[in-house]
Amino acid sequence: MTLSERDLKVIWHPYTQMQTAAAPVGIVRGEGACVYDEDGKCYIDAISSWWVNIHGHAHPYIAAKVAEQLKTLEHVIFAGFTHEPAVELAERLLALLPSNQAKVFYSDNGSTAVEVALKMCLQYWYNKGEQRTKILAFKNAYHGDTFGAMAVSGRSAFTNAFEKLLFDVEFIDLPTADNISELRSKISALSSQLACFIVEPLVQGSAGMIMYEAAYLDDLMQHCREEGIFTIADEVFTGFGRTGKNFASDHLQHQPDIMCFSKGLTGGTMALGVTTCTQYIYDAFLSDDRLKTLFHGHSFTANPIACAAALASMDLFTQPETVQNIQRIVDHHREFAMKLQGHPRIKEVRQTGTIIAIEWETGNDTSYFSNLRDSLYQYFLSAGIILRPLGNIVYILPPYCITNEQLGYIYSTIQQALDTI
Ligand SMILES: *Cc1c(COP(=O)(O)O)cnc(C)c1O
Repeated sequence: MTLSERDLKVIWHPYTQMQTAAAPVGIVRGEGACVYDEDGKCYIDAISSWWVNIHGHAHPYIAAKVAEQLKTLEHVIFAGFTHEPAVELAERLLALLPSNQAKVFYSDNGSTAVEVALKMCLQYWYNKGEQRTKILAFKNAYHGDTFGAMAVSGRSAFTNAFEKLLFDVEFIDLPTADNISELRSKISALSSQLACFIVEPLVQGSAGMIMYEAAYLDDLMQHCREEGIFTIADEVFTGFGRTGKNFASDHLQHQPDIMCFSKGLTGGTMALGVTTCTQYIYDAFLSDDRLKTLFHGHSFTANPIACAAALASMDLFTQPETVQNIQRIVDHHREFAMKLQGHPRIKEVRQTGTIIAIEWETGNDTSYFSNLRDSLYQYFLSAGIILRPLGNIVYILPPYCITNEQLGYIYSTIQQALDTI
Protein backbone atom coordinates (compact mmCIF):
# COMPACT_ATOMS: atom_id res chain seq x y z
CA MET A 1 0.00 0.00 0.00
CA THR A 2 1.09 3.58 -0.62
CA LEU A 3 1.47 6.08 2.21
CA SER A 4 -1.74 7.83 1.25
CA GLU A 5 -3.72 4.55 1.20
CA ARG A 6 -2.46 3.62 4.68
CA ASP A 7 -3.18 7.17 5.84
CA LEU A 8 -6.84 7.06 4.79
CA LYS A 9 -7.43 4.02 7.00
CA VAL A 10 -6.23 5.66 10.22
CA ILE A 11 -5.91 9.43 10.00
CA TRP A 12 -8.24 12.43 10.35
CA HIS A 13 -6.68 15.53 8.75
CA PRO A 14 -6.97 19.21 9.78
CA TYR A 15 -9.41 21.49 7.94
CA THR A 16 -10.35 18.56 5.69
CA GLN A 17 -13.78 17.22 4.70
CA MET A 18 -12.67 13.59 4.74
CA GLN A 19 -15.58 12.39 2.60
CA THR A 20 -14.82 14.51 -0.44
CA ALA A 21 -11.16 15.46 -0.10
CA ALA A 22 -8.64 14.01 -2.53
CA ALA A 23 -6.26 11.48 -0.98
CA PRO A 24 -3.34 13.24 0.73
CA VAL A 25 -0.01 13.39 -1.07
CA GLY A 26 2.56 11.22 0.71
CA ILE A 27 5.73 13.23 1.26
CA VAL A 28 8.97 11.38 1.94
CA ARG A 29 11.58 14.13 2.15
CA GLY A 30 12.26 17.83 1.79
CA GLU A 31 15.13 19.99 0.63
CA GLY A 32 15.27 23.78 0.17
CA ALA A 33 11.91 25.09 -1.01
CA CYS A 34 10.86 21.61 -2.23
CA VAL A 35 9.17 18.56 -0.77
CA TYR A 36 9.18 15.23 -2.64
CA ASP A 37 6.45 12.60 -2.89
CA GLU A 38 6.77 8.81 -3.01
CA ASP A 39 7.35 8.89 -6.77
CA GLY A 40 10.07 11.50 -6.47
CA LYS A 41 7.90 14.35 -7.78
CA CYS A 42 8.99 17.75 -6.46
CA TYR A 43 6.46 20.23 -5.09
CA ILE A 44 7.62 23.81 -4.56
CA ASP A 45 6.34 24.82 -1.14
CA ALA A 46 5.06 28.28 -2.12
CA ILE A 47 3.16 28.71 1.16
CA SER A 48 5.96 27.56 3.47
CA SER A 49 3.91 24.62 4.77
CA TRP A 50 1.12 26.71 6.32
CA TRP A 51 3.39 29.73 6.78
CA VAL A 52 5.93 28.15 9.12
CA ASN A 53 9.02 27.40 7.06
CA ILE A 54 11.53 30.20 6.56
CA HIS A 55 14.90 28.62 5.67
CA GLY A 56 13.79 25.63 3.59
CA HIS A 57 13.06 21.99 4.45
CA ALA A 58 15.36 19.66 6.39
CA HIS A 59 17.92 22.44 6.75
CA PRO A 60 21.24 20.77 7.59
CA TYR A 61 22.31 23.44 10.10
CA ILE A 62 19.05 23.25 12.07
CA ALA A 63 19.16 19.44 11.85
CA ALA A 64 22.68 19.36 13.32
CA LYS A 65 21.78 21.69 16.19
CA VAL A 66 18.62 19.72 17.00
CA ALA A 67 20.54 16.40 16.91
CA GLU A 68 23.18 17.83 19.26
CA GLN A 69 20.50 19.00 21.70
CA LEU A 70 18.72 15.62 21.54
CA LYS A 71 21.89 13.93 22.74
CA THR A 72 22.40 16.48 25.55
CA LEU A 73 18.97 17.11 27.07
CA GLU A 74 15.66 16.25 25.40
CA HIS A 75 13.31 17.70 28.01
CA VAL A 76 13.00 18.75 31.63
CA ILE A 77 10.11 20.14 33.66
CA PHE A 78 10.12 23.95 33.35
CA ALA A 79 8.60 24.80 36.73
CA GLY A 80 11.45 24.98 39.23
CA PHE A 81 14.03 24.17 36.54
CA THR A 82 15.61 25.92 33.59
CA HIS A 83 18.12 25.19 30.83
CA GLU A 84 20.53 26.88 28.43
CA PRO A 85 18.42 26.78 25.21
CA ALA A 86 15.40 28.42 26.92
CA VAL A 87 17.50 31.16 28.55
CA GLU A 88 19.58 31.89 25.46
CA LEU A 89 16.51 31.98 23.22
CA ALA A 90 14.75 34.43 25.56
CA GLU A 91 17.85 36.65 25.70
CA ARG A 92 18.33 36.69 21.95
CA LEU A 93 14.65 37.08 21.08
CA LEU A 94 14.19 40.03 23.46
CA ALA A 95 17.25 41.68 21.87
CA LEU A 96 15.47 41.57 18.47
CA LEU A 97 12.06 42.77 19.75
CA PRO A 98 10.75 46.28 20.47
CA SER A 99 12.69 47.62 23.45
CA ASN A 100 9.77 47.49 25.92
CA GLN A 101 9.47 43.68 25.75
CA ALA A 102 11.00 42.30 28.96
CA LYS A 103 9.82 38.76 29.76
CA VAL A 104 9.31 35.56 27.76
CA PHE A 105 6.61 32.97 28.50
CA TYR A 106 6.89 29.69 26.56
CA SER A 107 4.06 27.51 25.27
CA ASP A 108 3.37 25.05 22.46
CA ASN A 109 2.03 26.81 19.36
CA GLY A 110 0.40 29.99 18.05
CA SER A 111 -3.00 29.35 19.62
CA THR A 112 -1.52 28.75 23.07
CA ALA A 113 0.70 31.84 22.70
CA VAL A 114 -2.53 33.81 22.16
CA GLU A 115 -4.28 32.10 25.10
CA VAL A 116 -1.38 33.10 27.35
CA ALA A 117 -1.50 36.70 26.08
CA LEU A 118 -5.24 36.95 26.79
CA LYS A 119 -4.83 35.44 30.25
CA MET A 120 -1.98 37.84 31.05
CA CYS A 121 -4.20 40.81 30.20
CA LEU A 122 -7.35 39.56 31.91
CA GLN A 123 -5.51 38.55 35.05
CA TYR A 124 -3.54 41.80 35.09
CA TRP A 125 -6.83 43.65 35.70
CA TYR A 126 -8.07 40.96 38.08
CA ASN A 127 -4.90 41.27 40.15
CA LYS A 128 -5.34 45.05 40.19
CA GLY A 129 -8.95 44.60 41.40
CA GLU A 130 -10.45 46.26 38.32
CA GLN A 131 -13.41 44.97 36.32
CA ARG A 132 -11.96 44.99 32.83
CA THR A 133 -13.11 41.74 31.26
CA LYS A 134 -13.83 42.59 27.62
CA ILE A 135 -11.52 42.16 24.67
CA LEU A 136 -11.32 44.30 21.56
CA ALA A 137 -10.44 42.67 18.21
CA PHE A 138 -10.76 43.27 14.49
CA LYS A 139 -13.53 41.80 12.39
CA ASN A 140 -12.35 38.79 10.34
CA ALA A 141 -9.39 38.28 12.67
CA TYR A 142 -7.77 34.88 13.08
CA HIS A 143 -5.90 34.12 16.29
CA GLY A 144 -6.04 30.33 16.49
CA ASP A 145 -8.27 27.30 17.01
CA THR A 146 -8.40 26.78 20.79
CA PHE A 147 -11.47 28.25 22.48
CA GLY A 148 -10.04 31.53 23.73
CA ALA A 149 -8.18 32.17 20.49
CA MET A 150 -11.30 31.22 18.54
CA ALA A 151 -13.41 33.64 20.61
CA VAL A 152 -11.22 36.62 19.67
CA SER A 153 -11.29 35.54 16.01
CA GLY A 154 -13.99 36.67 13.60
CA ARG A 155 -17.17 34.60 13.57
CA SER A 156 -17.31 32.48 10.41
CA ALA A 157 -18.23 29.10 8.98
CA PHE A 158 -15.32 27.73 11.03
CA THR A 159 -16.79 28.86 14.35
CA ASN A 160 -20.55 28.31 13.73
CA ALA A 161 -20.76 25.06 15.69
CA PHE A 162 -19.22 26.67 18.78
CA GLU A 163 -20.73 30.14 18.56
CA LYS A 164 -22.79 29.99 21.77
CA LEU A 165 -19.76 28.96 23.82
CA LEU A 166 -17.47 31.74 22.64
CA PHE A 167 -17.15 34.67 25.04
CA ASP A 168 -18.31 38.12 23.93
CA VAL A 169 -15.75 40.21 22.09
CA GLU A 170 -16.03 43.75 20.73
CA PHE A 171 -15.18 43.59 17.04
CA ILE A 172 -14.25 46.71 15.10
CA ASP A 173 -13.47 47.35 11.42
CA LEU A 174 -9.91 47.68 10.20
CA PRO A 175 -8.87 51.33 10.50
CA THR A 176 -8.92 53.62 7.46
CA ALA A 177 -8.69 57.38 6.94
CA ASP A 178 -12.51 57.48 6.84
CA ASN A 179 -13.41 55.54 9.99
CA ILE A 180 -10.50 56.24 12.36
CA SER A 181 -12.23 58.90 14.46
CA GLU A 182 -15.37 56.77 14.71
CA LEU A 183 -13.25 53.82 15.93
CA ARG A 184 -11.57 56.03 18.51
CA SER A 185 -14.94 57.13 19.91
CA LYS A 186 -16.18 53.57 20.00
CA ILE A 187 -13.10 52.50 22.00
CA SER A 188 -13.45 55.44 24.40
CA ALA A 189 -17.10 54.58 25.05
CA LEU A 190 -16.11 51.05 26.11
CA SER A 191 -12.73 51.76 27.62
CA SER A 192 -13.57 51.15 31.28
CA GLN A 193 -14.50 47.54 30.38
CA LEU A 194 -11.73 46.75 27.91
CA ALA A 195 -8.78 44.64 29.09
CA CYS A 196 -6.91 44.55 25.81
CA PHE A 197 -6.90 44.99 22.06
CA ILE A 198 -5.59 42.03 20.05
CA VAL A 199 -4.41 42.55 16.47
CA GLU A 200 -2.68 40.85 13.58
CA PRO A 201 -0.40 43.77 12.71
CA LEU A 202 -0.49 44.87 9.02
CA VAL A 203 -1.79 41.59 7.54
CA GLN A 204 -4.84 39.51 8.46
CA GLY A 205 -3.57 36.18 7.12
CA SER A 206 -6.43 33.72 7.34
CA ALA A 207 -9.00 36.38 6.43
CA GLY A 208 -7.44 36.33 2.94
CA MET A 209 -4.19 38.28 3.30
CA ILE A 210 -6.12 41.48 4.04
CA MET A 211 -3.61 44.31 4.39
CA TYR A 212 -3.95 47.65 6.17
CA GLU A 213 -1.78 50.64 6.93
CA ALA A 214 0.64 50.87 9.83
CA ALA A 215 -0.19 54.56 10.41
CA TYR A 216 -3.84 53.82 11.31
CA LEU A 217 -2.91 50.92 13.56
CA ASP A 218 -0.43 53.23 15.29
CA ASP A 219 -3.23 55.70 15.81
CA LEU A 220 -5.46 53.05 17.45
CA MET A 221 -2.59 51.75 19.60
CA GLN A 222 -1.86 55.24 20.86
CA HIS A 223 -5.53 55.76 21.61
CA CYS A 224 -5.69 52.44 23.50
CA ARG A 225 -2.63 53.41 25.52
CA GLU A 226 -4.30 56.68 26.52
CA GLU A 227 -7.37 54.70 27.59
CA GLY A 228 -5.31 52.19 29.60
CA ILE A 229 -6.03 49.29 27.20
CA PHE A 230 -3.15 46.89 26.45
CA THR A 231 -2.32 46.04 22.84
CA ILE A 232 -1.41 42.45 21.94
CA ALA A 233 0.46 42.10 18.64
CA ASP A 234 -0.24 38.59 17.38
CA GLU A 235 2.89 38.12 15.24
CA VAL A 236 2.44 34.36 14.96
CA PHE A 237 2.22 34.78 11.19
CA THR A 238 3.91 38.15 10.54
CA GLY A 239 7.00 37.52 12.67
CA PHE A 240 10.47 36.66 11.38
CA GLY A 241 10.72 38.60 8.17
CA ARG A 242 7.36 37.97 6.49
CA THR A 243 6.52 41.68 6.18
CA GLY A 244 10.01 42.61 4.94
CA LYS A 245 11.19 43.70 8.41
CA ASN A 246 12.00 41.36 11.31
CA PHE A 247 8.54 41.90 12.82
CA ALA A 248 5.41 43.69 11.62
CA SER A 249 5.69 45.78 14.80
CA ASP A 250 8.94 47.21 13.39
CA HIS A 251 6.77 49.14 10.90
CA LEU A 252 5.00 50.86 13.83
CA GLN A 253 5.88 53.90 15.95
CA HIS A 254 4.11 52.52 19.04
CA GLN A 255 5.25 49.39 20.83
CA PRO A 256 2.75 46.66 21.69
CA ASP A 257 2.43 45.62 25.35
CA ILE A 258 2.37 41.91 24.55
CA MET A 259 3.60 39.93 21.53
CA CYS A 260 2.85 36.37 20.32
CA PHE A 261 5.11 34.19 18.18
CA SER A 262 5.16 30.69 16.73
CA LYS A 263 5.21 29.51 13.08
CA GLY A 264 8.58 30.88 11.83
CA LEU A 265 10.06 30.88 15.34
CA THR A 266 11.75 27.48 14.92
CA GLY A 267 12.22 28.03 11.19
CA GLY A 268 9.21 25.78 10.79
CA THR A 269 11.00 22.79 12.29
CA MET A 270 8.99 22.19 15.45
CA ALA A 271 6.00 23.46 17.38
CA LEU A 272 6.87 26.20 19.89
CA GLY A 273 4.97 29.23 21.13
CA VAL A 274 6.24 32.39 22.80
CA THR A 275 4.38 35.23 24.49
CA THR A 276 6.44 38.25 25.54
CA CYS A 277 5.33 41.14 27.72
CA THR A 278 6.50 44.36 29.32
CA GLN A 279 7.97 44.61 32.82
CA TYR A 280 4.86 46.56 33.79
CA ILE A 281 2.54 43.63 33.06
CA TYR A 282 4.90 41.11 34.64
CA ASP A 283 5.11 43.18 37.83
CA ALA A 284 1.33 42.99 38.34
CA PHE A 285 1.73 39.24 39.03
CA LEU A 286 4.41 39.71 41.72
CA SER A 287 2.89 39.34 45.15
CA ASP A 288 3.03 37.53 48.49
CA ASP A 289 -0.45 36.42 47.56
CA ARG A 290 -0.11 33.11 45.70
CA LEU A 291 -3.46 33.71 44.00
CA LYS A 292 -1.85 36.41 41.84
CA THR A 293 0.30 33.79 40.06
CA LEU A 294 -0.17 33.22 36.32
CA PHE A 295 -1.55 29.69 36.52
CA HIS A 296 -0.69 28.46 33.06
CA GLY A 297 1.72 25.85 31.74
CA HIS A 298 2.04 22.94 29.36
CA SER A 299 3.85 19.64 29.85
CA PHE A 300 6.32 20.57 27.12
CA THR A 301 6.82 24.22 28.09
CA ALA A 302 10.17 25.46 26.72
CA ASN A 303 11.10 22.07 25.30
CA PRO A 304 14.90 22.19 24.86
CA ILE A 305 14.83 20.63 21.38
CA ALA A 306 12.28 23.16 20.14
CA CYS A 307 14.34 25.97 21.72
CA ALA A 308 17.49 24.61 20.03
CA ALA A 309 15.66 24.61 16.69
CA ALA A 310 14.59 28.23 17.31
CA LEU A 311 18.17 29.23 18.19
CA ALA A 312 19.52 27.58 15.03
CA SER A 313 16.80 29.28 12.99
CA MET A 314 17.75 32.60 14.58
CA ASP A 315 21.43 32.07 13.64
CA LEU A 316 20.31 31.71 10.02
CA PHE A 317 17.72 34.47 10.23
CA THR A 318 20.24 37.08 11.33
CA GLN A 319 22.76 36.27 8.60
CA PRO A 320 23.17 38.94 5.87
CA GLU A 321 22.28 36.34 3.25
CA THR A 322 18.78 35.90 4.71
CA VAL A 323 18.24 39.67 4.82
CA GLN A 324 19.25 39.81 1.13
CA ASN A 325 16.96 36.90 0.27
CA ILE A 326 13.99 38.60 1.91
CA GLN A 327 14.67 41.78 -0.10
CA ARG A 328 15.08 39.72 -3.28
CA ILE A 329 11.64 38.13 -2.78
CA VAL A 330 10.08 41.52 -1.97
CA ASP A 331 11.51 42.94 -5.23
CA HIS A 332 10.45 39.96 -7.37
CA HIS A 333 6.92 40.04 -5.93
CA ARG A 334 6.70 43.76 -6.71
CA GLU A 335 7.70 43.18 -10.34
CA PHE A 336 5.16 40.35 -10.62
CA ALA A 337 2.43 42.57 -9.17
CA MET A 338 3.21 45.21 -11.83
CA LYS A 339 2.95 42.57 -14.56
CA LEU A 340 -0.48 41.49 -13.36
CA GLN A 341 -1.93 45.02 -13.26
CA GLY A 342 -5.04 45.34 -15.40
CA HIS A 343 -5.55 41.60 -15.98
CA PRO A 344 -9.29 41.09 -16.56
CA ARG A 345 -9.48 38.04 -14.23
CA ILE A 346 -7.93 39.94 -11.31
CA LYS A 347 -9.82 41.99 -8.78
CA GLU A 348 -6.79 43.09 -6.78
CA VAL A 349 -3.11 42.32 -6.24
CA ARG A 350 -1.68 43.30 -2.86
CA GLN A 351 1.71 42.88 -1.24
CA THR A 352 3.31 43.33 2.15
CA GLY A 353 6.94 42.26 2.18
CA THR A 354 7.35 38.62 1.14
CA ILE A 355 3.56 38.10 1.07
CA ILE A 356 1.75 38.63 -2.23
CA ALA A 357 -1.97 37.97 -2.69
CA ILE A 358 -3.85 37.82 -5.98
CA GLU A 359 -7.60 38.11 -5.69
CA TRP A 360 -9.46 36.44 -8.54
CA GLU A 361 -12.49 38.19 -10.03
CA THR A 362 -15.41 35.84 -9.37
CA GLY A 363 -18.51 37.94 -9.92
CA ASN A 364 -20.67 37.12 -6.90
CA ASP A 365 -19.33 33.84 -5.60
CA THR A 366 -16.40 34.67 -3.28
CA SER A 367 -16.97 31.79 -0.90
CA TYR A 368 -14.04 29.98 0.68
CA PHE A 369 -15.74 26.77 -0.41
CA SER A 370 -16.12 27.74 -4.07
CA ASN A 371 -15.25 25.39 -6.92
CA LEU A 372 -12.75 27.92 -8.18
CA ARG A 373 -10.69 27.37 -5.07
CA ASP A 374 -10.56 23.61 -5.60
CA SER A 375 -9.78 23.94 -9.32
CA LEU A 376 -6.93 26.32 -8.61
CA TYR A 377 -5.54 24.12 -5.83
CA GLN A 378 -5.50 21.05 -8.09
CA TYR A 379 -4.09 23.00 -11.04
CA PHE A 380 -1.10 24.19 -9.02
CA LEU A 381 -0.60 20.78 -7.41
CA SER A 382 -0.41 19.08 -10.82
CA ALA A 383 2.14 21.69 -11.82
CA GLY A 384 4.23 20.74 -8.78
CA ILE A 385 3.45 23.82 -6.67
CA ILE A 386 1.82 23.91 -3.24
CA LEU A 387 -0.50 26.92 -3.24
CA ARG A 388 -3.57 26.79 -1.05
CA PRO A 389 -6.00 29.53 -2.11
CA LEU A 390 -8.17 31.11 0.57
CA GLY A 391 -11.39 31.10 -1.47
CA ASN A 392 -10.64 33.20 -4.54
CA ILE A 393 -7.37 34.55 -3.12
CA VAL A 394 -4.13 32.96 -4.28
CA TYR A 395 -1.17 33.98 -2.17
CA ILE A 396 2.54 33.23 -2.23
CA LEU A 397 4.74 33.35 0.87
CA PRO A 398 7.79 31.23 0.20
CA PRO A 399 10.71 30.09 2.34
CA TYR A 400 13.41 32.77 2.02
CA CYS A 401 15.82 30.31 0.36
CA ILE A 402 13.56 29.91 -2.69
CA THR A 403 15.52 30.39 -5.93
CA ASN A 404 14.71 32.98 -8.60
CA GLU A 405 14.02 30.10 -10.97
CA GLN A 406 11.47 28.55 -8.59
CA LEU A 407 9.82 31.94 -8.03
CA GLY A 408 9.66 32.54 -11.79
CA TYR A 409 8.02 29.14 -12.28
CA ILE A 410 5.36 29.93 -9.63
CA TYR A 411 4.65 33.32 -11.25
CA SER A 412 4.32 31.88 -14.77
CA THR A 413 2.09 29.04 -13.55
CA ILE A 414 -0.21 31.58 -11.87
CA GLN A 415 -0.31 33.57 -15.11
CA GLN A 416 -1.25 30.40 -17.01
CA ALA A 417 -3.97 29.68 -14.46
CA LEU A 418 -5.35 33.19 -14.93
CA ASP A 419 -5.62 32.51 -18.65
CA THR A 420 -7.08 28.99 -18.40
CA ILE A 421 -9.20 28.60 -15.24
C1 LIG B 1 -1.67 30.43 12.56
C2 LIG B 1 -2.02 31.55 13.45
C3 LIG B 1 -2.32 31.34 14.81
C4 LIG B 1 -2.44 29.95 15.40
O1 LIG B 1 -1.22 29.29 15.41
P1 LIG B 1 -1.20 27.68 15.55
O2 LIG B 1 0.23 27.35 15.77
O3 LIG B 1 -1.75 27.16 14.26
O4 LIG B 1 -2.06 27.33 16.71
C5 LIG B 1 -2.54 32.45 15.61
N1 LIG B 1 -2.48 33.68 15.11
C6 LIG B 1 -2.21 33.94 13.81
C7 LIG B 1 -2.12 35.35 13.34
C8 LIG B 1 -1.97 32.88 12.93
O5 LIG B 1 -1.75 33.12 11.64
